[in-house]
Amino acid sequence: MSNDLSLQFDPVLFANRGRQFAGNIPVKDMPRIIELASNSDGEFYVTMTFSMSSLKFPMVKGTIEGEVGQTCQRCMGNTAVPISSQFQLLLITPDSLELASEEGHEIFEYTGQVITTASFIEDEIILSIPIVAKHADIEKCESPVKQWMHEFDEVPTDEKDNPFAKLKDLKL
Ligand SMILES: [Zn+2]
Repeated sequence: MSNDLSLQFDPVLFANRGRQFAGNIPVKDMPRIIELASNSDGEFYVTMTFSMSSLKFPMVKGTIEGEVGQTCQRCMGNTAVPISSQFQLLLITPDSLELASEEGHEIFEYTGQVITTASFIEDEIILSIPIVAKHADIEKCESPVKQWMHEFDEVPTDEKDNPFAKLKDLKL
């Protein structure tokens, strides 16, 4: 994998030149991800390709691959949630917002001349993190929960929605 990631980019300049880059961004460079994650290990592999849109606005297409450490809401253990995201955005300053919205693309609004790559990617990752994180495979959940869930699975479907079904069993 190549690593020629630009730490910052000038949308207009990069789009004019049709620049492309790819590389890794460590989680520790993204403070807002650290706040949402159960640990700050790992990194994201990012690709970005710049071009001009039909109305001559800077556009970026890209991909993000990586994992975010989250607390599993089933067993409260740690789980690495895979993130695999694609984006295509017009990079627009507030004065061009109205015209740019006619193109029907998603818009990333920025002010100033350059955008910090890690901060831009951070936004995209935050949109991709599931609201409720769980181990993808229940077999990976910490064992007391796994046992409980397996028992729960054996309850007939019509009793599953009844919170008292389990209590009834306990009384017998
Ligand atoms: Zn779990």
